[in-house]
Amino acid sequence: MTVSVTSYGMTDVGRRRDSNEDAFLDDDDLRLYAVADGMGGHAAGEIASSLAIESLASTVKAALAQPIAADVDRAEEVLRDAVSRANRRICESVLGRDEWRGMGTTVVAAILVGDQAVVAHVGDSRAYLMHEGSLTRLTSDHSWVSEQVRMGLLSENDAHRHPMRNIVTRALGNREDVDVEIRRSTARPGDVFLLCSDGLNTMLTDEEIRAALRDHAGDARAACEALVDAANRRGGEDNTTVVVVNVAGGP
Ligand code: CA
Repeated sequence: MTVSVTSYGMTDVGRRRDSNEDAFLDDDDLRLYAVADGMGGHAAGEIASSLAIESLASTVKAALAQPIAADVDRAEEVLRDAVSRANRRICESVLGRDEWRGMGTTVVAAILVGDQAVVAHVGDSRAYLMHEGSLTRLTSDHSWVSEQVRMGLLSENDAHRHPMRNIVTRALGNREDVDVEIRRSTARPGDVFLLCSDGLNTMLTDEEIRAALRDHAGDARAACEALVDAANRRGGEDNTTVVVVNVAGGP
């Protein structure tokens, strides 16, 4: 089955930070969507996240001339390779530049092929799917608090506001090889995919995210604005980036 998609993405510096280290991509032609959340001093975080997004887009574009016609196995292979290449590109760009040492970025990326979505991620940026009004996380955070939750040492509620919640256990730019987690999901008419940086999900609960997506069903821009606005009203402690993809019936 073919589906049609409309998307919108936005990023906001928030209320506490001087700079925005997030970057995003929403490309309905490639049906490729991504959010990256950079880290590192001297503007290195901004460089890492924008390098990740640029590298991802150019690799996918070169590999999938006709993304919509591609086969889902091929799309998964291309997406995994694109994330690995982005990682190597960041690692290489640090060589010889001491001021960039230690820079890195998370990435979450989704590509839609027919009625299948392939989601790849490294770090704690998330992908969600809203299907028939209920919200599911498609990614599990590669973070210290999330590992504690999986081991039963911390509750989900405690993890949400934990002082160590910013510590990621996987990122692009740290080492030459990176372990990319991939998940597939079906995209049905009426579904909404959301990609976000942790600035959204540390300020809002999943239920609040669900309510904003439900209230703005079919209008990706309004949904993005409502989510960013809600995160800022809650304190806007971090940069907030959201990409919302609405799935409709095929042409
Ligand atoms: Ca962040």
